[in-house]
Amino acid sequence: MGLGGIGAAVLNELSIRRVRPLGLDGCTIGHDLGSSHGGSRVARQAYFEHADYVPLLKSAFDGWDRLEAETGIRCLHRIGVLLAGGIDSMLLKASLASARAHGISIESLEPSELRRRFPQFTLPDGMHGVFEPGAGFVRPEAGIDANLQSAVRSGAEIRRPSRVLGIDADDDGALIRTSQGEIRAERVVVAAGAWTSQLLGEIDPRITLVPQRKEMVWFANRGERACSSAGMPAWLIDDDGACGDGVYYGVPTWRGQEGPLGMKIGFHGPGIPVDPNVKQAVPQEIVDRFSRDMKRYLPDVLGEPIAAQSCLYTMSPDEHFVIDRLPGRAAVVVAAGFSGHGYKFAPAIGEIAADLAMKGESSLPAGFLGFARFGTKAES
Ligand SMILES: Cc1cc2nc3c(=O)[nH]c(=O)nc-3n(C[C@H](O)[C@H](O)[C@H](O)COP(=O)(O)OP(=O)(O)OC[C@H]3O[C@@H](n4cnc5c(N)ncnc54)[C@H](O)[C@@H]3O)c2cc1C
Repeated sequence: MGLGGIGAAVLNELSIRRVRPLGLDGCTIGHDLGSSHGGSRVARQAYFEHADYVPLLKSAFDGWDRLEAETGIRCLHRIGVLLAGGIDSMLLKASLASARAHGISIESLEPSELRRRFPQFTLPDGMHGVFEPGAGFVRPEAGIDANLQSAVRSGAEIRRPSRVLGIDADDDGALIRTSQGEIRAERVVVAAGAWTSQLLGEIDPRITLVPQRKEMVWFANRGERACSSAGMPAWLIDDDGACGDGVYYGVPTWRGQEGPLGMKIGFHGPGIPVDPNVKQAVPQEIVDRFSRDMKRYLPDVLGEPIAAQSCLYTMSPDEHFVIDRLPGRAAVVVAAGFSGHGYKFAPAIGEIAADLAMKGESSLPAGFLGFARFGTKAES
């Protein structure tokens, strides 16, 4: 249940395994109420969040390639990702460590080389760079479309809008109460994004999945230099707190881009809890803050803000994903808590969730994302 970025990939993976899955979602396709809209998501493998994610990222990138080949829908654009930060920046240090540990091709750039290679940016003196040429961005709406088309071709059924009101489950099966009646299922994969806690109730007091609202702002291009066709990569900048406790990131304008035609900017940092049922306009002060800060980093290539949208993060207690069978209710698999960095993993998460639902364990190394780290384990 839940056919956003993650649930669509789970449905597709289950359908490939010929179990004739049923997909339920309370909203129509292409909605912008959850976490998987806005045209692009940065996709990198030199992963500062934790090196253990890298094998899953490699699997996910392969999955995107397979999905594109099968459906003809372009999902992953390898335009390169540039990370910039001070010599002690965790963004750079941990990304380099991940790349070294897993043999990911990256280029480490001294400050002078960083300025020479990427003159579009105006960065504080002494900033170093890490460039990952095989990275880029994925298109969330296109990925959902491709996964759902492929799933239906392989025998999946989709019912939407069909809101799940509750799930009564034990280890053997589940009764799903929906706005259109009850459904008995052998297994349920809950990929309900920001609504996961509302739906499942308290899993354990140690495990809170908290929705936060985040903004995306598009800026007009001043000439071609802000476009991927002119060598502008996707990017993240860690300015050592100069612009707040987090990192700015951007995805340049690319050929074939739908929606606002400009560079998309976001800020990955702490937020405040929100009710996912209340959709809010982007506050003007956020647009003003982004504009001020972009004049600092990209004064020559960006013009005025032209559009803004909000979107939801679902934060887990340690900002790592939660993918496991539900403690005490093994018929339910949870894939949630993606904490603002989950979309690019969708094909791999589809595989892990399908493995857990069908075999109780996954052949991908995803044990570090299970409930056991909180001191509570799924019963077999
Ligand atoms: C601004 C922003 C920037 C991001 N940047 C990146 C990035 O650069 N790289 C990256 O990898 N990730 C990024 N992410 C994170 C990524 O987008 C999310 O991790 C991912 O999209 C989560 O997908 P999901 O399927 O869990 O949630 P959603 O896409 O929200 O899907 C959940 C679905 O469940 C349905 N649902 C919920 N409750 C019910 C119910 N009771 N009954 C029926 N259906 C229900 C909803 O309608 C929805 O369609 C970003 C997120 C945001 C908001």
